[in-house]
Amino acid sequence: MNDVALQSVLRRVYDSDVPARSDIEYLLALKEPSEVAELYAFADAVRKEHVGDGILLRGIIEFSNHCRNTCLYCGLNRDNDHLERYRLSRHQILQRVEELVRCGIKTVVLQSGEEDALDPSWFEQLIEEITSGFDIAVTLSVGQKSRRQYELWKRAGADRYLLKIETTDPELYASLHPGMSFDNHLRCTCDLQAIGYQAGSGNIVGLKGQTIATLAGDILFFRERDFDMLSIGPFIPNRNTALGSRPLGDLGLTLRSIAVTRIVTRNAHMPANTAIASLAGRDGTIAALRAGANVVMPNFTPEAYRNLYEIYPGKKCVSPKTSISQIEKIAGELTRYIDYTRGDSLKRKKEQAAAMAQN
Ligand code: SAH
Repeated sequence: MNDVALQSVLRRVYDSDVPARSDIEYLLALKEPSEVAELYAFADAVRKEHVGDGILLRGIIEFSNHCRNTCLYCGLNRDNDHLERYRLSRHQILQRVEELVRCGIKTVVLQSGEEDALDPSWFEQLIEEITSGFDIAVTLSVGQKSRRQYELWKRAGADRYLLKIETTDPELYASLHPGMSFDNHLRCTCDLQAIGYQAGSGNIVGLKGQTIATLAGDILFFRERDFDMLSIGPFIPNRNTALGSRPLGDLGLTLRSIAVTRIVTRNAHMPANTAIASLAGRDGTIAALRAGANVVMPNFTPEAYRNLYEIYPGKKCVSPKTSISQIEKIAGELTRYIDYTRGDSLKRKKEQAAAMAQN
């Protein structure tokens, strides 16, 4: 395909309300370096126009690695008895929130395995303490829960919720998540959006049985549901899981997925996530930020526990201060900057502006 033809596919995908699946597949399958560079450049321009040059920071605290699930790819799954389990106390979590605030960060992401034992009122109180004591946004990432629990935590002040679908192919989902239900995942996603959370989804690239067509389906789903946040990262095999001997996810395909998702969803917040940094280090983070990403997530889990949150091996874990100074440097190299605001959803801002214009 010549340059003009590729540009017209890119424009068409950007302009359509429902992009053609074949166009998305075409872009995901690009191989020729000059064409891939054109895809990234287009995505980068969309990023610049719709989310600007700021790189948002989200401080993540992985407060427990207990999990009731048996996801085939994930090291936290309950059948992995090579993993020492931990759960941080309220006090430990609040200390890390203080540190995060000292670093100038205005979003905390509270993430854990999917625990049955997570006490909804304990969590409610924790959220209340954070939102009343600190001027920061609270993002939750604790898995599939009941609508009542989501409502409780929203009332307590939580702003956002991350719940990655991992794959939108129902059969593939079922094969990777024994005992879990795809429909329940969709129910959770609908509840979260209806309750008013800024909602995040995302997928893993390189899962066993996944194809370009599956990934195109994921991207169409992201567009259809108009998520506020989308996290796309490569599969990294963990030898203590059933998929331990599978190959690593492909970095190029991950970056092309990020780029196409940026073009299709325009102003979603998208991280250069930890899986990318773990697979490809600093260069991976830079590549993702140049292919459409606009968020980085420094890790604030206490050092003693950071290695125990072993979703996959080689998780890139540096101290938050080091991480922030590295991001400052990267931002400089990309002639971008760190945006130290809360970085709320831009989707809503647009809707609010439209509503105000009507009044
Ligand atoms: N319990 C929470 C958080 C899960 S861990 C929840 O259910 O939402 C956070 C993310 O790590 C997952 O959503 C998944 O996308 C990613 N992950 C898990 N195992 C992985 C692996 N082996 N390679 C790459 N990403 C993985």
